[in-house]
Amino acid sequence: MPARIVVLGGGVGGTLAANLLSKELGRDARITVVDPTGMHVYQPGYLYVALGQANGRWLARDERTLLRRDVQLAVERAVRIHPEAGTVQLERGGNLEWDFLVIATGARLVPDQIPGLVEGAYEFYSLEGAQRLREELRRFRGGRIHIGVSGIPYKCPPAPVEFTLMLEEYLRERGIRDRSQVTLLSPLNRAFTIESASKLVQPIMEERGIGLTTFFNVEEIDPSARVITSLEGEKVESDLMIIVPPHRGQTVVTDSGLGDVSGWLPTDKLSLQVEGYERVFAIGDATNLPISKSGSTAHFEAPVVANRIASLIRGTAPKANYPGQVMCFLETGNGKATALRFDYEHPPVPPHPARIWHLAKWMFNRLYWETVPKGRIPEWAPMVRSKR
Ligand SMILES: Cc1cc2nc3c(=O)[nH]c(=O)nc-3n(C[C@H](O)[C@H](O)[C@H](O)COP(=O)(O)OP(=O)(O)OC[C@H]3O[C@@H](n4cnc5c(N)ncnc54)[C@H](O)[C@@H]3O)c2cc1C
Repeated sequence: MPARIVVLGGGVGGTLAANLLSKELGRDARITVVDPTGMHVYQPGYLYVALGQANGRWLARDERTLLRRDVQLAVERAVRIHPEAGTVQLERGGNLEWDFLVIATGARLVPDQIPGLVEGAYEFYSLEGAQRLREELRRFRGGRIHIGVSGIPYKCPPAPVEFTLMLEEYLRERGIRDRSQVTLLSPLNRAFTIESASKLVQPIMEERGIGLTTFFNVEEIDPSARVITSLEGEKVESDLMIIVPPHRGQTVVTDSGLGDVSGWLPTDKLSLQVEGYERVFAIGDATNLPISKSGSTAHFEAPVVANRIASLIRGTAPKANYPGQVMCFLETGNGKATALRFDYEHPPVPPHPARIWHLAKWMFNRLYWETVPKGRIPEWAPMVRSKR
């Protein structure tokens, strides 16, 4: 009898894991992906939507078109996981039974955790948010813009810096840069979590007249006074507040008693097994791993999980471990970008921003749908394949 494998979430991690499992196991497994939207979203595109450089249609595809034919898709929300019984309860009723479970449910935005955020601020971490921000930026004629985050962890740590640098360029192109002040608010003592990359981007920000306010954890927003208050007690007045909402794990994880206080799954950093459960794995943003929440993390984790599950099914010793590998590009504006490649042991040593990395990101954006979710990495992309 084929092994029953259920994959929760049809994002980067879930789709790739399901396809790799199907390739590896063929008829030895019956694989079902569960996702309430039935759509797969390419979230890095939100940046371009917010800046009017792309439309939303480019960012989403029907999940069915990305899955191998023998992978089942259930357009359903999982509401409760019962690891001991080996079942997942679905919102519209019914249970799915599994021998192996992969949890790839990503992160949840919880803007209402910060008073005034929903009413007073804009964001580019959801499609609706990016579209709303795009309209506001079109109306913007100059003033003080603040870009910040409301807590760590958040997806794609470089994204707020990247957005800030791209926004500065956008304001120049619109001819309103001299009437605008752009400031990045960071909860840390530097631009963002990755130290070596912060060292690289901070001089660029300074050169381009972008302010940096450190140790600023957004606590509250007063929409009518247009003031952002930090946990540290600082207040800034702003004409346009662009704040990344707080992130949490999905409710299916917390409601099942599997997550930590923020809903992240306690996950073994090498085997990617959910702690305490040999047959339950977690990948992508859903984990509590000490590594960037990024698509590339999920991308490098999926083969490890596929390999481990295949070994368990075949009764061989699982060999694959996840070394903490991450690879992403960071646009620095003016047609240039840099690349961040790192793992648990090796922090990134980003190259100086250059056009080649911008072109590589552009190419990656275009080829995403035919490569990553389907488990095909183009041969021209040694920097994506490279283990450093
Ligand atoms: C603005 C922005 C820019 C980014 N830029 C980059 C970048 O340049 N490079 C990079 O590597 N990463 C980037 N990321 C991060 C990247 O998009 C995420 O880290 C990645 O999508 C995580 O993959 P995942 O599979 O864990 O989760 P997701 O891709 O978020 O997928 C989770 C899936 O789970 C489903 N789901 C949720 N709840 C349930 C449930 N109860 N039952 C069943 N299914 C459920 C959702 O519908 C969703 O389809 C960016 C993100 C943003 C917001």
